Amino acid sequence: MSRAGRTQKTSQKTSMENMETRAVHAGEPRPRIAGAITPPVFQTSTYETADESGYHDIRYLRLSNSPNHLALHAKLAALEGSESALVTASGMAAISTALLCALKRGDHLLAQRGLYGGTHTFMTHELPALGIEVDFVDGAERAQWKRKCKPNTRAFYMESMTNPLLEVGDLPAAAEFARENGLTTLIDNTLATPVNFRPVEIGFDIVLHSATKYLNGHSDIVAGVIAGDAARVGAAKLKLDHLGGSLDPHSCFLLNRGIKTLPLRVRKQNQNAQALAEFLQAHPAVAAVHYAGLPRHPSAARARALFGGFGGLLSFEHREGAAGARRMMKRLKLAVSAVSLGGTETLVTLPAETSHVGLRAEERADIGITDGLVRVSAGIEGEEDLRADFQQALSA
Ligand SMILES: *Cc1c(COP(=O)(O)O)cnc(C)c1O
Repeated sequence: MSRAGRTQKTSQKTSMENMETRAVHAGEPRPRIAGAITPPVFQTSTYETADESGYHDIRYLRLSNSPNHLALHAKLAALEGSESALVTASGMAAISTALLCALKRGDHLLAQRGLYGGTHTFMTHELPALGIEVDFVDGAERAQWKRKCKPNTRAFYMESMTNPLLEVGDLPAAAEFARENGLTTLIDNTLATPVNFRPVEIGFDIVLHSATKYLNGHSDIVAGVIAGDAARVGAAKLKLDHLGGSLDPHSCFLLNRGIKTLPLRVRKQNQNAQALAEFLQAHPAVAAVHYAGLPRHPSAARARALFGGFGGLLSFEHREGAAGARRMMKRLKLAVSAVSLGGTETLVTLPAETSHVGLRAEERADIGITDGLVRVSAGIEGEEDLRADFQQALSA
């Protein structure tokens, strides 16, 4: 059993056509450790020395090679359809590590506009201090990418859907553009999840996740994922070994447990978000709804072509602005006012006061974040109960 970490076999040879089957069985140790259906938490920082061939091969917790890590790596690769995957201590640990792998001093990065706030801040505050330049472009405007691409451009960074307006860039064109120009493509797939979209299938090199959100799905840990080909994920692991952002084994255990129900949860969240979007669209107190599952959303056609589902996140504008939105949020009884997303509970937040509070009012208006915009992360509650909760909160 002391060799479980190294000799662990996965059940990859059995048929795992379905996402549901992979979420449950992929990467799980075979033979089962002491027969355990749920693998134990390997709560040890170090392991008895065996035949290690170098520093990165030593079995030590920071080196992300406990049996809990190895099981998760194989499961996540099976879900994303990538050769390899690596878990990290948070989504930002995955994003920062992957960017520091793809770029060095003197390089230039092209990035989609409207990225997650932490990612945007990392790119605009940390990368320039390391001598790395960044330019932001519209995710749907190929002509802009061409204009901003320079001889030292090395990477193109996108998100599968943006937050909170749920815009979908021209992802296949971005992958093709990057291939033609020799750029590494990175994509944050947190909002879509591999249930709705697998970027590797359309040619993206590196897929990133805040596993804090849908992958774990229970709002009880922070974690991240870097997935891609074995060479790039291997390089990211060496970088992570040095930077130190490894995931602790108890969080690995919880993440593995969370992922087993990922397809069930995400499909229910897709349904709940669609139902809420349709309900809100018809409500007189609502000025606009942003959800790619609604035919009039600007990204509806692209989302339909690329995604198996439109995700659990939506946003809407209250007709009475911030005051109306705040009043409605106070009256909600099931949905909770909180940041973050992707868990079993429905959460609501005002982006102008939380995720985008760092921007000036004009900057927010510029990117479509009005003061009365409410973001909803649909949970897995009953559809009728959720609709009734928003109905009473809006019409009281
Ligand atoms: C939350 C989030 C992140 C950051 O993840 P952490 O786990 O909080 O570090 C990155 N990207 C997206 C799209 C997110 O929603």
